[in-house]
Amino acid sequence: MGGMRLTFMGTAGARFMVMKQLTASGGLYLEEGNTRLAMDPGPGAVVQYAKRKVDLSRLSGILLSHRHLDHAGDVNVMIEGMTDGGFHPQGTLFCPGDALDTDPVVLEYLRGFPREVVRLQPCTRYRLGDISFSTSPRHVHGVETYGFTFGGEDGGLPTLGWVTDSKYYDGIAQDHRAEVMLIHTVLARSRPELPHLGLDDAERIVREAQPRLALITHFGMTVWRARPWEVAAELSQRTGVDVRAARDGMRLDL
Ligand SMILES: [Zn+2]
Repeated sequence: MGGMRLTFMGTAGARFMVMKQLTASGGLYLEEGNTRLAMDPGPGAVVQYAKRKVDLSRLSGILLSHRHLDHAGDVNVMIEGMTDGGFHPQGTLFCPGDALDTDPVVLEYLRGFPREVVRLQPCTRYRLGDISFSTSPRHVHGVETYGFTFGGEDGGLPTLGWVTDSKYYDGIAQDHRAEVMLIHTVLARSRPELPHLGLDDAERIVREAQPRLALITHFGMTVWRARPWEVAAELSQRTGVDVRAARDGMRLDL
């Protein structure tokens, strides 16, 4: 039994970065104890997991923050991987209800492959083997979307906070406050008509939540052009918080 280990199977966010694969879009892979969770497997996730020699048939679960393509493009092949093409039903799929209902992203023929399919509810704690996580209130993002905190089940500060896609809202920093925070920054500068976080929003979140370490990831094209690693260094300097840019394949022991 160890602590949490997080691997970035991709750092691309939104359509242009994903369609050009300027960085990979495989989402996040979280391991704790004997539990292995694939999170937001976007297009090409199966390639990234194979490249990093993760045996999909040993996955304990798959978690979707929401049903957009860059977060769920490979969910079906990941379900097949987790269950040996359905021959060995196992594992749990966690997703918002709308990933299963209208214009579903999870194909019906393989919904019986996981042992359980859980429709996420806001502000609820879940346990998958050694991993414990809670959902945030519903994000401001059009489709049903949640952020997450991991650990902290004893009432202490969670180990990991994951600010997934959302427009900025009052309370977003508090809802995801943790020792280490991941922030999806699609835009270099937030825009009122777009339901995504900008680097300006990331700065507000970091200032308010004061994590030990913040990682910006899920880069949109404008953030990529601004060079995320340089932007992160500037954010560190301005806020006094250690802010870094995630890289494809980066691994963190939490
Ligand atoms: Zn989205």
